[in-house]
Formats: sequence, structure tokens, C-alpha cells
Amino acid sequence: MTSVLIAGGGPAGLAAAIALAERKVPVKVVDPSGAATATRGELIAHGGAQIMQRLGLGHVLTDAVLIRDVVSHWGAAGLQSHGSHPGLGLHGWGLDRSALAKAMIGRAEQLGVTLHTGRITKSQHTQAGWTATTETPAGRETWHADYVIDATGRPAHIARRHAATVFHGPALVAVLWQMGSAQDTTMRAEATPEGWWYKVPHKTGGTVGFVTDAATAKRITAAPSVFLSQAQDSLSLISLKGISSRPWSMDCRSALLDQTSGTGWLAIGDAAAAFDPITSQGLFNALSAGFFAGNAAADALSGDTDAPRVYDALLAQTVDRTYATTHLQYAALPFDTPFWRHHARAGMEKKEIRPIHA
Ligand SMILES: Cc1cc2nc3c(=O)[nH]c(=O)nc-3n(C[C@H](O)[C@H](O)[C@H](O)COP(=O)(O)OP(=O)(O)OC[C@H]3O[C@@H](n4cnc5c(N)ncnc54)[C@H](O)[C@@H]3O)c2cc1C
Repeated sequence: MTSVLIAGGGPAGLAAAIALAERKVPVKVVDPSGAATATRGELIAHGGAQIMQRLGLGHVLTDAVLIRDVVSHWGAAGLQSHGSHPGLGLHGWGLDRSALAKAMIGRAEQLGVTLHTGRITKSQHTQAGWTATTETPAGRETWHADYVIDATGRPAHIARRHAATVFHGPALVAVLWQMGSAQDTTMRAEATPEGWWYKVPHKTGGTVGFVTDAATAKRITAAPSVFLSQAQDSLSLISLKGISSRPWSMDCRSALLDQTSGTGWLAIGDAAAAFDPITSQGLFNALSAGFFAGNAAADALSGDTDAPRVYDALLAQTVDRTYATTHLQYAALPFDTPFWRHHARAGMEKKEIRPIHA
């Protein structure tokens, strides 16, 4: 029986696994953390409800924080309330990513998906199919499959080794803190000269992030308490009280593959196209692209070789629409500083990273 190996057990990989398992295609997911994730708050926009329901994950939204208002203070552009979607009284949901991961693992396993702990370090495609190697502390394992889905997030580990090239937007790093205290149900964002803050509430607290350039992020993580005490003075919307954890940082620049499928493989979620968090598009894209790509892979394995091209076209539309507006938030120039000028000018100016050949 034909089978699919999914590299990466984030929202995209698990959504694809659920779609494939529903089609009775044997599927394995390999992820270094066994698909579990630490607590982190993210907003899923109201449009995400349908795909969550379709994936059998509606209960995750019931347990999430309803976000009815998003308020931002954007420097020279002033204070803005973004209201809620007309007629819905709702902006979206504040989700805890660890709760989403737990629910997705449960749903996938219920459908017969097997999850394995390991990082794919090598992959090879021949006429006989795929062979991939994972490394774990316990040793090396070899996997065989007819089709591979790259859901490894921004590294796009498989696609880049099989001729795809990744283009990046300007460097952008998020420094994140977890807050344990109870939060209000408003999502907040605030611009400062060196970047922008956001605060998203979720059931077990809230997550605060500061999105900035790489050098500033490095300076913050080297001396976080000094930075926090100075930062609070310049903020009017976001309170940093209640931060007790040490921060961690994440690459969050835009990224895009020049090719999102090839012979015997597809790339999904952030591996295929990663968006600046200012768009709040990542989760919706990961879940919906995962679902459609899982179905496209199932179709391709049953002989419909055009199915991955339809998936590519769908993704290209999402990418075009999102990138067309992302830079506008920066072009509003809340502050006339190097950070804002650089991002306003750069837009989706792309830097080519050469493909890696295994
Ligand atoms: C700071 C920040 C804030 C964000 N806020 C929001 C928000 O509010 N709303 C929103 O919609 N989106 C948000 N996003 C975007 C969202 O987090 C991503 O779009 C989403 O996680 C993409 O899911 P994914 O499954 O494609 O990738 P990931 O979640 O990155 O998962 C990839 C998985 O692949 C695994 N992996 C990596 N390499 C290998 C390998 N070689 N072999 C096997 N497995 C591997 C990783 O361990 C990981 O588990 C934010 C992103 C950042 C960085």
C-alpha cells in the first residue's frame, strides 16, 4: 500500500496527516519533539473556524479565548480599535499552541496516524520511492515512503534539498515572554521606534512578543530585565507586569519557496510560505494548506498527477494577497526610525538563499 511520510508535526503537518488518514492513506509523522509544543499564545482569525471544524478540532475553539477587539497604538498613526468582523462580533480566538498540538495529536492518532520522535537529516528520492533518515538520541532510523510532505516550518528541510529555493523578506525576530496571570480578552499591539509589541490572551495566561531586528533581539535576550524595565515607560496600551519567565526568540521574517511541489513531494505551512506575524495568517494557512495538500497527495497517489499543481495555485493566491498588504503596516511609518524605514521600503524584496543539495 502506498504511504506518506510527513516531516514535521506542527499544525500544517498534523492537518495533512488528518486529511490523508481520512482518505485511508497510511501516514507517518516524524518530529523532533513528537509534535508536542510549549505554551504560546497565537490568534487564529475568525475565518479559521471552518477549517478547525473540518479537521475535527472545533472543541479547541470552545476552550480558547474569544477575541472581540484588537486595539493598536501605531505611533504617529495614533490609537486604533480594529473592531470585530461585521455581524460576527468576533475577531478570532486566542489559542494556546500546546493545547492545539495536543488536540491535533489526539485527532490524528484516533484516525490511525503514527507519530515518531526524530529529526529528518537525510532524504533521497529514487524511482522506488523515498528513503529518509532520522536522528534521535537513541540512534538512527530509516523510513521508506511513496510520497513526502515537507512540514518542517521555516527551515523547509526537504524542499530545499530537492531543488527548491527559499526567498526571505527582511530579517525580523520576535522576542517572546509567557505571562501566567489572567488577561483581558483584547488583543493589543503597539509600535515603538525599534519594533512593535503584541499581547495575545489565551486560556492559561497570555503571550507578549516584541518584533524587531536581529541585533536588537540579541541585545534584549542578553539583558531582558534591563530592557523590560525601560520598555514599560514607553508603552501606553501594553502592560508588562506579570512577566516572570525568561524570553525566547523566534525567526519571524517572511519566507517563500520558488517551488512548492515536485516529483513525489509537497511543501506546506511555513515550509512553503511563512508570513510576518503582523498578518495573523500563519495558523490559518498552515491548517488549510495542510488539509488541501493532504488531499492533493492522496489524489496524486491515486494517479491524479495534476492535483499538486492545483494546490500550488491555491497557495500562490494566498501568498499574493497576503504579501500585497503586509508592508502597508510598516509603510504607515509610526516612527521615522531605521527599523520602520527599512521595513516600509523593503516590502517583499527577496534575498535568495541557495538550495542545499544533500
Ligand atoms: C512570534 C510568532 C508569532 C506568531 N503569531 C501568530 C498568530 O498570532 N497567528 C497566526 O495565525 N500565526 C502566527 N504565527 C505563525 C504561526 O506560528 C506559523 O505560521 C505556524 O506555526 C506554521 O505551522 P507549521 O506547521 O507550518 O510550522 P511549525 O509550527 O514551525 O512546525 C514545524 C515542525 O517541524 C519540525 N521540524 C523542523 N525540522 C524538522 C526535520 N528536519 N525533521 C522533522 N521535523 C522537523 C519542528 O520541530 C516543528 O515541530 C506566529 C509566528 C511567530 C514566529
